[in-house]
Amino acid sequence: MRLPELLRKAVDNGRDLTRPELRRLLELTDPADTQQLFEAAYEVKRREVGCLVHLRGLIEIGNLCSKNCYYCGIRRGNRRLKRFQLALPEIVEMAREADEFRYGSVVLQGGERSDAAFVDFIAGAVEAIKRISGGRLGITLSLGEQSLEVYRRWFAAGAHRYLLRLEASNPELYRRLHPADHSYDQRLACLGLLRQAGYQVGSGVMIGLPTQTTDDLVDDLEFFRRTDLDMIGMGPYLPHDQAPLTAAYPEVGNDRGKQLQAGLKMIAVTRLYLRDVNIASTTALQALAPNGRELGLLAGGNVIMPNVTATRYRASYQLYNGKPGIDENSSESREKLEKSVASVGEAIDYGQWGDSPHFARRNRRN
Ligand code: SAH
Ligand code: SF4
Repeated sequence: MRLPELLRKAVDNGRDLTRPELRRLLELTDPADTQQLFEAAYEVKRREVGCLVHLRGLIEIGNLCSKNCYYCGIRRGNRRLKRFQLALPEIVEMAREADEFRYGSVVLQGGERSDAAFVDFIAGAVEAIKRISGGRLGITLSLGEQSLEVYRRWFAAGAHRYLLRLEASNPELYRRLHPADHSYDQRLACLGLLRQAGYQVGSGVMIGLPTQTTDDLVDDLEFFRRTDLDMIGMGPYLPHDQAPLTAAYPEVGNDRGKQLQAGLKMIAVTRLYLRDVNIASTTALQALAPNGRELGLLAGGNVIMPNVTATRYRASYQLYNGKPGIDENSSESREKLEKSVASVGEAIDYGQWGDSPHFARRNRRN
C-alpha cells in the first residue's frame, strides 16, 4: 500500500491498523513522510477530541524516592542530590497559583514513597487543594505504585486521575531498566487497582530506550489499547549523568533530533490507533527542542503540563539532564505557554478539568 493510502486507512479506521502497518508508520524517516503522518494524526485529533489544549499545573512535591530505576535522576542511589519534600502550605500555594492562572487542574508528582506519614500527607494535600479552590481544581496524582487501599483513600480525598507509566510493556526490556526487586507484574497490576478505585487511568512508556526495538513500541501501542487507557503520557528517554543506564549505554539518547522524531511519531501513531484518549505533549519533548511541545500538539497531543513548582526546587527534580524551565518562574512559564499554543493556532481550555473523552464514552457504554 502506498503511504497516502495507508494514512487514509489510519484516519478513517485507525483501530484496524495491523502490526506491520503500525511498524511501518513508526519507521518512517523521510521528513516529507513524517509530515504526512503528523497531519493525519492531527486530522483525527481535531475530529475526536478537538483542538483545545488542556492544562495540568505540575507540582513536583518531592524527590525522596524508595526506588532505584536505572534511568532516573532522582533514584534512591543518587547521592549527589539535595533531597526535598514540599510542606503542605507550599503545595497549597502552588495550587492556588494554578487556580489563579485558571489551569483547571493540577498534578502532584514525586518520587515513590509508601510510608504511612506520606499517605496521610497526600490525602491532606488533596483535601486542602479541593478546599482552597472551592472544588474547582481537578487533581491528578503521579506517585507510583501503592496498594488498593491507598489508591482508594486518595480517591476519596478528591483525586480523580492517576498517571503510572509502565515504562516498557516488554517484560524483558522492563527488567533491563530496573533492579531485580522492581516488579513488572506489580506495576501492571497497579493499573488495574487504579481503575478499580475509580480513577481515570493514564500510562505510557519511554521512547528510544537502550535495546528498544520498533516491535517493542508496537507492543506498547497494543498494551495501551488492551488496557483501555484514558490518558497516555509518554516521552523520549533522556540520559541523566548520575543514572547507571547512561553509563551502561553511553551512546543511546544523545541524538536529540532522532529522539524527538521518535517521540513525535509515537504520539501520532497513538492518536491514529486509540483516537479519543488524552495524550500529553510532555516536557521531555521540550527538553529536546525549544518548540518540542508545540510539535507534540501538531503530532496529535492535546494536554500540556506547565510546571508550577516554585523555581527554587526545580533543579532538584531533574529526572534527566537538560530539563527545561528550571530557572523560570510560573508566570514566565505561563506566558511562554500562551504564546506557544497560539503559535500553532490552538487555544487553551482555561478553567476546565479537561477529562479524557474516552473515559466519558466508556462510562456511558457501561
Ligand atoms: N515516581 C513516579 C513519578 C515520578 S517519575 C513514577 O515513577 O511513576 C515520572 C516519569 O518520569 C517516569 O514514569 C519516567 O517515565 C519518567 N522518567 C524518569 N527518568 C527519565 C529519563 N531519564 N528520561 C525520560 N523520562 C524519564
Ligand atoms: Fe523513583 Fe519514579 Fe524515578 Fe523510578 S522513575 S526512581 S520511581 S522517581
